[in-house]
Amino acid sequence: MATGTGTIAFLGLGHMGLPMAKNLVAAGHAVKAFDVVPAALEAAATAGIPTVDSANEAVADASVVLTMFPGGQQLLDAYRGVDGPGLLAVVRPDTLFLDCSTINVDDAREAARLAVEAGHRSVDAPVSGGVVGAEAGTLTFMIGALPEDLESVRPLLEIMGGKLVHCGDHGAGQAAKVCNNMILGVSMIAASEAFVLGEKLGLTHQALYDVVSTASGQCWAVTTNCPVPGPVPTSPANRDYQPGFAGALMAKDLGLALKAIESTGVAAELGPMAAAMYERFRDEGGAGRDFSGIITDIRDRSNGAH
Ligand code: NAD
Repeated sequence: MATGTGTIAFLGLGHMGLPMAKNLVAAGHAVKAFDVVPAALEAAATAGIPTVDSANEAVADASVVLTMFPGGQQLLDAYRGVDGPGLLAVVRPDTLFLDCSTINVDDAREAARLAVEAGHRSVDAPVSGGVVGAEAGTLTFMIGALPEDLESVRPLLEIMGGKLVHCGDHGAGQAAKVCNNMILGVSMIAASEAFVLGEKLGLTHQALYDVVSTASGQCWAVTTNCPVPGPVPTSPANRDYQPGFAGALMAKDLGLALKAIESTGVAAELGPMAAAMYERFRDEGGAGRDFSGIITDIRDRSNGAH
């Protein structure tokens, strides 16, 4: 296995990266972790994760370089280098680059191309499951990789995740993630509009839920993350839309969907509309609220508040 001969360089110790790195350390792996933000580095050290002072130090004797960054630009900058040689130039030959960030499909393919061109291997493995899944080691990984490269990192992914889906070659993991989240964004808006329409038509939330949850409108946005309080006690609507899955992240993921729609020329209409609605939601106070909070925006507009 790829990790048998070297350490795991873990770069990006934010909300997701820190608990993922913690699980690798707890399972007995030799990890060298780094984040550009000193507070994140300190938090990781406090959590018992071995940290180092630079990315180059982290990757020096690594067989796997795992990244968990905000976006594709950070990844490509780190691979190529900005003020000096990038990661691809300073690692040992045949290092496996495992990117778990959610990024543009085109950026993921470019990152893989650069890695392979430099004599390395590449796996894109974005996740779903959020911070709770990262802490519990139950993330779902959507994987784009050559089969043999996936096998190399499978033991690591199985520590951090509960489900692995091999979606195809380089970039296929990001492609699956962006398609799934486009369905989620659109279906949450549809569910929210339907609940507000139900309110206007005099339906109780419970009555509409009882019908939709067992009829053809059934979907995760209704049965698990129901945008109104009451019917699903664990949904964020019951705690004033504390996330959950924050509006800023949904806006980001729909922005990635939009880029993919543009670059492929798909005649999608709902995806771009959902992207615009979540961008507005993020900019008007929804960034840190659960994405199901978009129902309050739709209700306010229905009542002439905007
Ligand atoms: P975050 O912003 O909390 O963490 C990202 C970390 O990467 C930051 O600490 C940042 O300082 C660090 N970083 C950036 N550039 C770096 C570099 N060159 N070297 C080292 N560190 C660097 O983000 P997050 O919530 O942990 O999410 C990480 C990724 O996972 C994102 O792409 C996000 O879209 C995706 N994701 C997040 C969630 C979630 O619920 N938070 C769920 C699924 C997927």
